[in-house]
Amino acid sequence: MNDTPVSVAGPTGRAPGTTGAAVTAAGHRDDHPRDECGVIGISTPHGDGIAELTFFGLFALQHRGQEAAGIAVSDGQRARVHKDEGLVANVFTPEAMAPLTGYHSIGHTRYSTTGSNAQRNIQPFLVETMHGPLAVAHNGNIVNAPALRDELLSRGFGLTATSDTEVVALMLAAAGGRTWEERLERTLPAWKGAFSLVLLDADEVIAVRDPWGFRPLSVGKLPSGGHAVASESCALATLGCTDIDEVRPGEIVTLKGSEISRHQALAPAARSARCTFEFVYFSRPDSVWDGHNVHHVRQRLGVELARESAVDADVVIPVPDSSIPAAIGYSNETGIPHNDGLIKNRYIGRTFIEPTQNMRERGVALKFNALAENLAGKRVLMIDDSLVRGTTAGPLVKLVRDAGATEVHLRITCPPITHACHFGVDMGHDSDLMAARRTVQEMQEHIGADSLAFLSLDGMMRAVGATEGYCNACFTGAYPIAVDEAQAKLSFEGAIA
Ligand code: SF4
Repeated sequence: MNDTPVSVAGPTGRAPGTTGAAVTAAGHRDDHPRDECGVIGISTPHGDGIAELTFFGLFALQHRGQEAAGIAVSDGQRARVHKDEGLVANVFTPEAMAPLTGYHSIGHTRYSTTGSNAQRNIQPFLVETMHGPLAVAHNGNIVNAPALRDELLSRGFGLTATSDTEVVALMLAAAGGRTWEERLERTLPAWKGAFSLVLLDADEVIAVRDPWGFRPLSVGKLPSGGHAVASESCALATLGCTDIDEVRPGEIVTLKGSEISRHQALAPAARSARCTFEFVYFSRPDSVWDGHNVHHVRQRLGVELARESAVDADVVIPVPDSSIPAAIGYSNETGIPHNDGLIKNRYIGRTFIEPTQNMRERGVALKFNALAENLAGKRVLMIDDSLVRGTTAGPLVKLVRDAGATEVHLRITCPPITHACHFGVDMGHDSDLMAARRTVQEMQEHIGADSLAFLSLDGMMRAVGATEGYCNACFTGAYPIAVDEAQAKLSFEGAIA
């Protein structure tokens, strides 16, 4: 055991002029469920370039969260963390990376799913414990965290943040047991909900996944010795990993230099609940999850859409980027050619620069341009992955129509989203969801499309290649774990101003 005090190096100060909350460059909220978070953990026997490895792994997970990023590193004695608001490439300058030396690391890229996007909620959380340093990074949402937090408060703990990840860290620090694995194993049964967790202690990295398997987590072998875990297999591929495998629901995986040990700590839930939305929207297309390549599943979503709701059209266009494979699938199935119709500015990302009022009014035009040469005089079949609040579909239809399309038909690669997610995805509340308030006909009229159709639940699951084992609660309202409807994302916020 190591009881060396923790050295906490960060968060750093913000860049000048960045005291406000980040806004999308278009000045309006993108109409997608907000990505959850990405986690990574690395342990190497030699420690060469541990910060760089973690940086590039996190960089590959940037799509899962763009609000903040952090890396914690341990050299076997001391742990330190650097974390801040912003994209991975902005947070980690060479100067910020220089002190991050050691053998073991974890990293996190964040979108705030629990607790607002405050500095104090940026992960990894690093705490000093009687057993040495402990850092925690978390993807998911523990639905009973408010009750667990109250219990910690009643036992005299002080909490500094408002996210469920701090609850996890403090529960582990207070748990009995000889090793961190034992403490984890004793604490795990108390956590209900979605968690793909990576922990860093003085001399190892430990990963664990909830028994329902809501969020993905994979493990692989690094080319230079050592091992890595990451939210998505694409990050492990970036690091050159081989022997990539899924961390099983309820499994604890410990990485220590070139050693790896795996242990089924909790029995997998009788009905697993993988998030279907990972296939529809969140995961990168080159990731593999549950044995399925995400790109191929998205192509099959397009095929199923074509089988269910084909319409005469001259061209199939995707709303880039997530719908590109579905447009290919739809085109292959119907014989209608696919082409680009919308060009997305892929570099716009998030910015602290407020658009002018005039730019704000132009809405999606800041993010997308229509390719009039491919649209004018054509009946257009446009494919998008989802409709959440319905804020961008109307402007996109108008953009395509203004470019000369004679008809615009909209097809969505999942069923209507009628219920909020409680497992780590921010879709807002039920009342924010367009499909919870309107019929398909009403949505079509609101958007201004010539027709609108959603993929059925059966069609979506045919494309995934499974009939069970997945969570579809946002489409059906059948939550795999009982959730307290009163628990909102910011339910901790009353405690700390
Ligand atoms: S409710 Fe929807 S977004 Fe949330 S875990 Fe289930 S399928 Fe995924």
